[in-house]
Amino acid sequence: MKGFLKEFKDFAIKGNMIDMSVGIVIGGAFNAIITNIVDCIITPLINYLIGLLTGGADAAQAVGKIGIFDIGTLVGAVINFVITAFVLFMIIKAINKFHKKEEAPAAPTTKVCPYCKSEIHIDATKCPYCQSEV
Ligand SMILES: [Zn+2]
Repeated sequence: MKGFLKEFKDFAIKGNMIDMSVGIVIGGAFNAIITNIVDCIITPLINYLIGLLTGGADAAQAVGKIGIFDIGTLVGAVINFVITAFVLFMIIKAINKFHKKEEAPAAPTTKVCPYCKSEIHIDATKCPYCQSEV
């Protein structure tokens, strides 16, 4: 159980969970667009074609419907998608900033000899390359 929890913690912290959540949310918003395209364009179009084939009162009704594609709903879904993507982008940006702050650069373990420019140990008092006092 402890191993499982640790694994879950690593998974959550490493950002895989964030990536996955983003995928699910974006997928959901995108799905709304697809649903709207079908509902607003494909369905009326099919109704229209069926109306043409069968004739009668249904045809006139279908023709009337095709003139008023529910573009408003479709545009709404697209705007919703864009806003969702933008908000997620801002959240991820904030998370990345937070992660970068946490990962402060490690203290240097080497320095450069001022005489021969060789990389030497940070605590060295004498350069192993040129024997200069540093
Ligand atoms: Zn040196």
